[in-house]
Amino acid sequence: NLQILLRRRPQGAPVAEDFEIVETPVPQPKPGEVLVRAQYLSLDPYMRGRMSDAKSYSAPVAIGAVMEGQTAGEVVASDVPGFAPGDTVLGGFGWQRYSSVAPGRLFKIDPGEAPLSASLGVLGMPGLTAWVGLEDIGQPKPGETVVVSAASGAVGQVVGQIARIRGCKVVGIAGGAKKCEFVTEVLGFDACIDHRGDLDAQLDAACPNGIDVYWENVGGAVQRAVFPRLNDHARMVMCGMIAEYNDTSPAPGPNLMSAVRKRLRIQGFIVSDSGWPRYPQFRTELLGHMASGRLAWREDVVEGLRQAPQAFIGLLKGENFGKLVVKID
Ligand code: NDP
Repeated sequence: NLQILLRRRPQGAPVAEDFEIVETPVPQPKPGEVLVRAQYLSLDPYMRGRMSDAKSYSAPVAIGAVMEGQTAGEVVASDVPGFAPGDTVLGGFGWQRYSSVAPGRLFKIDPGEAPLSASLGVLGMPGLTAWVGLEDIGQPKPGETVVVSAASGAVGQVVGQIARIRGCKVVGIAGGAKKCEFVTEVLGFDACIDHRGDLDAQLDAACPNGIDVYWENVGGAVQRAVFPRLNDHARMVMCGMIAEYNDTSPAPGPNLMSAVRKRLRIQGFIVSDSGWPRYPQFRTELLGHMASGRLAWREDVVEGLRQAPQAFIGLLKGENFGKLVVKID
């Protein structure tokens, strides 16, 4: 079995030496377990948090343990009724090729509905994050202006397209001309701002009526530029602040007096709190948008599990273009 372990906790940005790649025997399923061979591994920003032992909403990965992660794969052997060899399953099996797990951790999917890797992205945890955050916090109304940071990424692409379907004007923020072109031409956002350029001037031009919903994925300079442009009663969906995940001390934030004056709603959420019981409803809705041609998505597929550490290091620097997944050889 090929496994990637956490060797030590990163100081600042992770480096290759923080991981260890090992070959171990393929696990033998115990009674009541299912042996799964992973075909795709999802790489996600939250994994940076799991590498750290700072206080968080979830326990860290132990030193020497397999890195945590969602995978999609195939049942190889099963001692559990309802799971047969050849079944396609999703689950949190970590950065490894084989895993033997209890059925409570398995989610069976129909491989005919969409390509398998999509169930880790647009139809997976990131897509569900977008849907839950908009339903519960963003609540965009037709005609409102919605701004989405990390717009070409896994969560951002779904946020913007759902908001467009609901009749909003959607402005993305992304790094570089290629990503911005994808966001407007393929995803169909109304405009896209390059965060490497003059944020203030570009935001003024793209959002002449201010901002009603801001989807926060990055923090840092982008947040500081967007915040003063929020309208009265705007909603700020606090999904993540990836630009600050490698920082060793907190960055300065905006002054919050305008939250009072403008009656802002600033709310954070974690998708796993309330998301998974609503997964069937989300999946049905998004499959419908796919079938009607209103939902595009882009994946950045890295070949080979051994490449996962380097790909993950790149994710925290914006080197991915679309949902980052590893195709396990
Ligand atoms: P993405 O696919 O969007 O990839 C990360 C992107 O973040 C990069 O491509 C890059 O895009 C941008 N980025 C990285 N570093 C920086 C930086 N220093 N400054 C500005 N932008 C940067 O990742 P996801 O869609 O998976 O995640 C997006 C956010 O959502 C993250 O903050 C993540 O933690 C959060 N999240 C939260 C969840 C929750 O339950 N609250 C669940 C899932 C995700 P670009 O080149 O365009 O800048």
